[in-house]
Amino acid sequence: MEHVDILVVGAGFAGLRALYTFRNLGMRVVVLEASGGPGGVWYHNGYPGARCDVESFDYSYRFSPELEQDWRWSERYATQPEILRYVDHVVDRFDLRKDIRFNTRMASAVFDEADNRWTVSSADGRTWSADRVVLCMGQLSTPKAPSYQGQESFKGRIIHSGQWPQGEEIDFSGKRVGVIGTGSSGMQMVPVIATTALKLTVFQRTPNFSIPAANAPVTDEEDRTVKANYAARRLQARNSPTGLGFIPNRMSALDATPEEREKVYEAAWNRLGFGFALAYHDILLSMPANDTAADFIRRKIGEQVDDPVVREKLTPRGHAFAARRPSVDSGYFKTFNRNNVELADVRESPIVEFTEEGIRTSAKLHELDIVIFATGFDAFTGSLFRPDIIGRNGVSLRDKWANGPTTQFGVAVAGFPNMLFTAGPGSPSLLSNVLLSIEEQIDWFAQFIEFMDDNGYTTFDVDPKVESDWVAHVNERVKETLYLSTNSYYHGAEVAGKARVFMPYSGGVRGYRRILEKCAADSFSAFRFTRSAAEGGAPALKVAQQQ
Ligand code: NAP
Repeated sequence: MEHVDILVVGAGFAGLRALYTFRNLGMRVVVLEASGGPGGVWYHNGYPGARCDVESFDYSYRFSPELEQDWRWSERYATQPEILRYVDHVVDRFDLRKDIRFNTRMASAVFDEADNRWTVSSADGRTWSADRVVLCMGQLSTPKAPSYQGQESFKGRIIHSGQWPQGEEIDFSGKRVGVIGTGSSGMQMVPVIATTALKLTVFQRTPNFSIPAANAPVTDEEDRTVKANYAARRLQARNSPTGLGFIPNRMSALDATPEEREKVYEAAWNRLGFGFALAYHDILLSMPANDTAADFIRRKIGEQVDDPVVREKLTPRGHAFAARRPSVDSGYFKTFNRNNVELADVRESPIVEFTEEGIRTSAKLHELDIVIFATGFDAFTGSLFRPDIIGRNGVSLRDKWANGPTTQFGVAVAGFPNMLFTAGPGSPSLLSNVLLSIEEQIDWFAQFIEFMDDNGYTTFDVDPKVESDWVAHVNERVKETLYLSTNSYYHGAEVAGKARVFMPYSGGVRGYRRILEKCAADSFSAFRFTRSAAEGGAPALKVAQQQ
């Protein structure tokens, strides 16, 4: 059995950054990756039209100024293939590949209390022992698909957006294609597939808010300007609430006149993408303020759709704008003006069954050759619950989190010593530019690990009281917002029977960083540390004093 200082699970953006950073601390690091290549969600989500809806300059690593200067993004919002090229470049440039074990799915991780180590096993029976485990397994990496009566009889092909076939160009020409789901994935693929498919049917349950991407090539001048000021841009992103660099308008939407609001919203609509949600500071805090934004977006959507019946069906109503994740689209709504595109409203006429020929709703049979499930993911906990993660006293993470995830600062769990994870429940994660949040966390992990080593601590754990205080804090912060006013994957509504707990931290990227910084400045006293008896230390040297 190979022994490592740190075992990282997942070779997406987080796992690669973890490998780079921990290796630079002089640690022996191995990364396990279930897929055949690096990139995490970007490796798997190869559907047509897949691209990042955070600007390329911000959805990129900040740890290497040389990398920042050398890499040339071609578009404001990078496509999935370009992001994978970037990932490959990073892997090769920093010689990361040699420490990644591809096609290696972690099946279990068991904490051995006798020697304070983790034993990690892969699905194919290999094992590693590790002083620490860092889980970088993604928040949206466990695809979720409905199961319909008769599905196995369908003669066509079924593909999930998050498990797009590798190395295969799927040709939609002459095909009748059905897309189920109108979240970000569905909304990105629909305009692209419509250009080649014979017929495209979009099965919509909940119409989604969306802001135009205003995507464009990155000009040489923009590239030069950003690169000349990259440090300042990064700083602004780190100090912004979402990590996207947008500084919220300090004014309330309700204090502006209708004419002023129209101007502000028009400008945000034309340029800001996600930043639209910060056009006024209270859009996500007050329903009347939110209504002003939602009304504007509904009108804008309406202007794009010719058919009045389709227009009404595509118009999101009944939930606050951005309380569930909005999309950033490139021509989604106008696609419904095409003759080869049909909207099937499955709230009005639910899917009854699959047949050999296609999908039968309560209204009619839709004959199809390919069905794409753009139905999302088991968010936040899906990937953490797949393997058996067993902490102290044989307790599994699944059992520990049966009533919803509990964490200390979104990075560690009481009873699971020497285990850290990125972008998990209790951290800004999916409410932020997740790449920025990942880098913030990993830099902090490095400090944390160095602190332990400098002090001769071999084990850390979380005090359950400190953990429950953090959970309470997360719950308090979200009450200030509109996130709980609707169902979403932010609080477990996407999977039947899943615990309904609000998972991401809504206190913002900057507020979160300050909490982590304060913890470090307080000598990480929020955690419990022990020295192993073998090294002559006393147990429980430090007990949690505060959060
Ligand atoms: P999603 O946002 O969870 O959307 C899933 C869609 O499928 C929803 O419209 C949902 O309807 C529908 N659906 C689920 N089960 C259904 C069923 N049984 N029948 C009919 N409709 C069903 O998933 P996603 O679009 O894959 O996006 C997930 C997340 O990935 C995004 O929110 C975003 O965070 C991330 N993402 C990011 C990018 C990027 O550019 N960075 C691109 C794509 C995705 P209901 O709303 O009614 O449940």
